[in-house]
Order: sequence, then structure tokens, then C-alpha cells
Amino acid sequence: MSIPALFVSHGAPTVIMDESPVRTFLSKLADTVEKPKQILAVSAHWETAEPVVSSAEQPETIYDFYGFPDALYQMTYPAPGAPDLAERTAELLNDAGLGPVTSEDRGLDHGAWVPMKLGWPAADIPVTQLSIQPHKDPAWHYKLGEALRPLRDENVLILASGNLTHNLREFRGHKIDDAPEPWASAFDEWASWAIAEGRTEDLLDYRRRAPEAVRNHPTDEHLLPLYVAMGAGAPGQTGRHLHKSYTYGVLAMDAFAFG
Ligand code: ZN
Repeated sequence: MSIPALFVSHGAPTVIMDESPVRTFLSKLADTVEKPKQILAVSAHWETAEPVVSSAEQPETIYDFYGFPDALYQMTYPAPGAPDLAERTAELLNDAGLGPVTSEDRGLDHGAWVPMKLGWPAADIPVTQLSIQPHKDPAWHYKLGEALRPLRDENVLILASGNLTHNLREFRGHKIDDAPEPWASAFDEWASWAIAEGRTEDLLDYRRRAPEAVRNHPTDEHLLPLYVAMGAGAPGQTGRHLHKSYTYGVLAMDAFAFG
């Protein structure tokens, strides 16, 4: 039984409370895959120079956002940790020469817990988190995913969480259900096409080849988790489009399955 790796767009933390098509989609995330034994979350919000994986026995819920409604800070995601998965992840990355380190106390940031709380609200699947490296390129993150591919055959769900488009400077003044800005659509349509066609080389070089790449990703930490999910899929395979919608006219909320 091989579980596909998923990429989801998490949007603003308030996605968990505000009605929207992506909230409805994430609420049914459990229906898209067999129930995994464990989850390895790879969120855009844990950035380190080298890969770090958390061996926390009981990861705390991290409120890594400011000025949002109080109700968000009352929410918790009390899933147990997965120290054995952390150890296995570290072993796979070591074997690939990607030299990880382990953190004993890192919890779950909102890029990880918001989609998981919507998708698996019972919080009964042990979870750990792996960091991304914002100073390394898409090819590095694709390699991380390749190294993690065996986990898919070990009943582990690789849940990569970022955003298909992500320019927060253009976010102001938009309402949650605004129509997409043309410059965001141009990018998301290109990326969706490239993923559906399995155009890995184009995607790895997206900053030069995609329309409006830099405007949609002034920095690319929210796109990097996509490459981890892609790398974890089978070589040469295309991604399956699971969801497409927008929030605030500038955040493409697409989700894909690989493998
Ligand atoms: Zn985010």
C-alpha cells in the first residue's frame, strides 16, 4: 500500500474558521488517502539552514501568527508525536547525504496544524514535522522528497503545506472570496499545467520559466514544499489536481497528489 504524497495550500490561519471552498476541501482531506499510520508534515513555516526533523513526543501547537482573532489562539492540535518516524526520516536523509539534525521540542506550526485539524480533527494520527531550507533551491527540496519516497510504502503520509501563489504584499484590501488577480491566475495556470504534464524540469526552473513567478513568490518558501511532495512521487509521474480555488484574490489554494 503506497500512500500518495500531498501538497496543500494552507492560506491565512483564519482558513480554519472562515467558510470557503478550500476549507470545505481540507475538511474532507481524510477522504483523499487511506488513513495513514503516521504523518510527516513539511510546512513553509519551519525554515532552517539544514534539514531538521522533530522527535517531540507530544508536539505543541505553535501560534506563529500575530493579530488574529482570539479563537485561533484557543485552538490546539494534540496529536501524539512520532519519534520513531523522526528517526526513520533522519536515517533516509542521512543515506541520501542530506545531513539532517533532530529537534526534541519543536511543535507544529500553523502550516501543519491548520490543514491537519480540518482533515483529521480527531488528532489521533501521530505526526512529526520536517523543516524546509529557504536558502536552497527547488532541486534541493525535490531531492529531499526523493529521499523520503520509501515512507509512502511504510504507511506514512507526507503532507507538504505551502501555497501555490503567495504574495502577502498584495493581500491588503482583498476579501476572502475576491476573484483571482490575472497575474496570480497566470502563474497558477502555468504551474497546474506543468504539474499535470509532469514537466519537472520546467517546475524546477520556475523562477525563469513561469509567468509572473517573482510577483507570486517574492521569496519562495511557500512553494518549496511542493517540490518535496513532487520528489516523493514516482519519477516522471504527473501530479493529480485535488483542489483549485482562491482566497483573497491572490492566494491560489490548489492541492495536488503525487504517486
Ligand atoms: Zn503560510
